[in-house]
Amino acid sequence: MITHVGQYGLQPDFQNVFHIMQQTLFDAIVIGSGPAGAQCALWLKQLGHTPCLLDSAAQAGGLLRNNPYPVNGLLMPSHPISGEQLAHEMQACLMVNQVALRLNHRATRIRCHHSGFTVDLDTPDGATTLSAPYVVIATGVSPRHGGLSGNPHILIGPGEHIYRHTWHNLRVAVLGGGDNAFENLLFIQRQHADVVKLFARSLSARQQFQQQVAPAMCQIGPYTVDADRCQVNNEQFDRIVVMYGWEPNLTFIIEGDTLHRAADGTIVTDPLHCETNISGLFAIGEITGRMHPCYATAMADGVVAAKAIQYRLENKTNVG
Ligand SMILES: Cc1cc2nc3c(=O)[nH]c(=O)nc-3n(C[C@H](O)[C@H](O)[C@H](O)COP(=O)(O)OP(=O)(O)OC[C@H]3O[C@@H](n4cnc5c(N)ncnc54)[C@H](O)[C@@H]3O)c2cc1C
Repeated sequence: MITHVGQYGLQPDFQNVFHIMQQTLFDAIVIGSGPAGAQCALWLKQLGHTPCLLDSAAQAGGLLRNNPYPVNGLLMPSHPISGEQLAHEMQACLMVNQVALRLNHRATRIRCHHSGFTVDLDTPDGATTLSAPYVVIATGVSPRHGGLSGNPHILIGPGEHIYRHTWHNLRVAVLGGGDNAFENLLFIQRQHADVVKLFARSLSARQQFQQQVAPAMCQIGPYTVDADRCQVNNEQFDRIVVMYGWEPNLTFIIEGDTLHRAADGTIVTDPLHCETNISGLFAIGEITGRMHPCYATAMADGVVAAKAIQYRLENKTNVG
């Protein structure tokens, strides 16, 4: 972590960073250092409070870490920047601002108490617990597997493993009818695959993508997959690419779980403050099932939750 900051030529106050890393009492614990959680922790810090930002991964940035493509929809910078680069910048920014960032820390349980919360963590040094009056869940989503297991022939979800793969002369089946399925099909086609076919029970991808794919490449309706033989509808392929959308990362336990969840498992929040039905427990970013989850909406949620927590910490009655 500190080595990485050095790469950017920055001069962190190491004593202070060490002190922050040792601290165990925080104003807020933010679980997940993707755009939502990182933005929330940065705002809390810059508003004069002491957040602890933790992530089960070894690097900050969330899904951006697995995005080698230029990030779409960014207003700045004016030149293309990949998700990976943005994740590095994000981590450097957190370090410069001396946000307490604990990587390789996986939240396993949240307990609600009278005066706040404790969060149980698995860390490289064993199990530990942190306490704070506020907790923010920013754990994002993972690609749906649809009952299939990833292996060298079956690739699940978009990202680096698709980007770095050699597709030349391969026969490829893409499963799914959404934006990710079409976008990755078009990418694989451009990499000179021999055959690319899309199998989808129904289509939900935007017109812009659908118009670029010849109808002959798409089979819409029920289909069967034989993962062991790498076959779809009894047709032989070299690779099967699974693009079945996303599911929420909620693998930890919330004690006495009364948390309101939507039918798809995402967390329901108050749109004004990003607070859940449990007072003091906030949820932000993709875990909340935004209408269009992306980098910008995740970060916006982070700001909203940070401001709501600031108002509470400073005993202001008018939240928001
Ligand atoms: C290939 C790809 C391309 C994309 N392209 C774009 C684009 O061009 N433009 C755009 O706007 N968006 C893009 N996105 C989407 C964007 O990356 C996401 O919308 C955004 O990262 C969501 O942010 P988040 O903070 O809600 O969640 P995430 O980024 O998913 O971060 C969640 C974090 O929580 C951590 N976590 C999970 N469970 C635990 C736990 N129990 N304990 C501790 N930590 C935990 C995870 O390790 C992760 O770091 C792309 C995504 C992918 C995969």
